Amino acid sequence: MNYQPFSDKDLLFLKKLLGDDRVSTGASNLEIHSHDESFHSGYYPDVVVWPLTTEEVSTIVAYANQHLIPVTPWGVGTSLEGNPLCVYGGILVDFDRMDKIFAIRAEDFQVDVQAGVKYQDMNKILSRHGLFFAPDPGANATIGGMIGNNASGVRTVKYGGTRDNVAKLTVVLANGEVIRPGNLAQKSSSGYDLVHLIIGSEGTLGIVTEASLRLAGIPERFSAAVATFPTIRQATQAVYDIMGSGLGPAALELLDVSTVKVINTEANAGLEEDPTLFMEFTGTSDVALGEDVKLAETICKENGNTGFQSGVGREARNRLWENRHKAYEYIKRNNPGLDFMILDTAVPLSRYTEMVTFAVETIQKYGIKGYAFGHAGDGNLHLVLAGDFQDEDFCRKRDDANFEIVSQAISMGGTATGEHGIGIGKKKFMPMEHGKSLELMKQIKKMMDPNGILNPGKMVDPS
Ligand SMILES: Cc1cc2nc3c(=O)[nH]c(=O)nc-3n(C[C@H](O)[C@H](O)[C@H](O)COP(=O)(O)OP(=O)(O)OC[C@H]3O[C@@H](n4cnc5c(N)ncnc54)[C@H](O)[C@@H]3O)c2cc1C
Repeated sequence: MNYQPFSDKDLLFLKKLLGDDRVSTGASNLEIHSHDESFHSGYYPDVVVWPLTTEEVSTIVAYANQHLIPVTPWGVGTSLEGNPLCVYGGILVDFDRMDKIFAIRAEDFQVDVQAGVKYQDMNKILSRHGLFFAPDPGANATIGGMIGNNASGVRTVKYGGTRDNVAKLTVVLANGEVIRPGNLAQKSSSGYDLVHLIIGSEGTLGIVTEASLRLAGIPERFSAAVATFPTIRQATQAVYDIMGSGLGPAALELLDVSTVKVINTEANAGLEEDPTLFMEFTGTSDVALGEDVKLAETICKENGNTGFQSGVGREARNRLWENRHKAYEYIKRNNPGLDFMILDTAVPLSRYTEMVTFAVETIQKYGIKGYAFGHAGDGNLHLVLAGDFQDEDFCRKRDDANFEIVSQAISMGGTATGEHGIGIGKKKFMPMEHGKSLELMKQIKKMMDPNGILNPGKMVDPS
């Protein structure tokens, strides 16, 4: 694409629209927005803007389209694949100030928000109504960023990911037009599903400014449990059996020994240092919950389980999930001076044991320090590869291992990314995963964004 260089005239336009305090070309603002939480970095925007309304976003995008300037939306930049980085510079739209909750419609279990609302902050407010938005990525992400990446989390195994919990959107298209796809009904068979097309498109098809989200009731009773196993294979087999038993856990997470060790070191968690499952069950009575946990324990024992700690109280349970959410952060903190790549494959459940074994053996083959954990109940595996990314030899091994593991996941009928998105890092796997469908994706991109201004360099290259 022939983008135009960002000029003083463009800067003047933005300042006139938003005022001096909501437009910045300052070095520190450009630097903050030049990297996300991945190792991809050094992609600087020309300017950062902070709109307040859909109308402002629409005006910015229409101008950018007319003047062939790239526009990239930014939530809080917690992506793990370089998703919100301005590969071709241009205007970075930061949603920090679009953080209004318009209406909590408790009677319909829905909430209407601006895209910059952070889900953890929102859930604190919703808890007063006994409700919560279930997808829960580890970081305090924005709703716009979660929609961009179709994020999910530890409770996706019961409640689904972001895509399953959005009813309606307000979207600014590449020409600045505003559409409002979706509706507030519980179900619909009407028309092409544009809501689901936009979700997971990483800001490449449209910019989401508002959303109506589906909520769930906060369960009255829950029980968390920690189970340890002699081998990772036995732990993953237990996952498969629990999922097949009809138990319907609210969370089912796998942690390998290295990850457990880091959590112990960083959070003084006192966990047994074995392959481990964290799980949670919810219910309406203690009796029913007790029976669920008993069955889970029996299944674990049948798979060689060595330790099973259940009946974890509210505080300990919160600590458990906090430790799981912070696993990546702890790994980074525990390895000062190293760089990190995080893999995010997901496979059919029947292949999960095989996938985890293959991934662990592959990094052992290359002699790479790694940590395996993930949303096992969804067949989602995260593998953190740690090393010196200035070392060319290491990078070659890292890339070879990454390629082998992701290719294996795809060949098993899985995906290069269960929840982190394509960004910069996974783009090379698009042809392998999507085959001929990629052509249609390119045509959709070309039709919806003919000038290629929306988050260019990501997902697909239409030409
Ligand atoms: C410690 C840690 C743990 C994590 N755990 C998980 C996890 O369990 N599950 C998971 O799914 N992810 C996880 N992530 C990744 C990340 O937090 C999620 O992908 C999150 O949804 C990103 O939200 P964000 O607000 O930071 O968005 P950003 O990173 O700023 O943006 C994400 C993408 O969405 C686009 N975008 C942003 N705003 C909009 C908008 N308004 N309209 C359209 N597109 C937009 C961006 O251009 C970009 O492509 C984790 C990250 C960290 C650092």
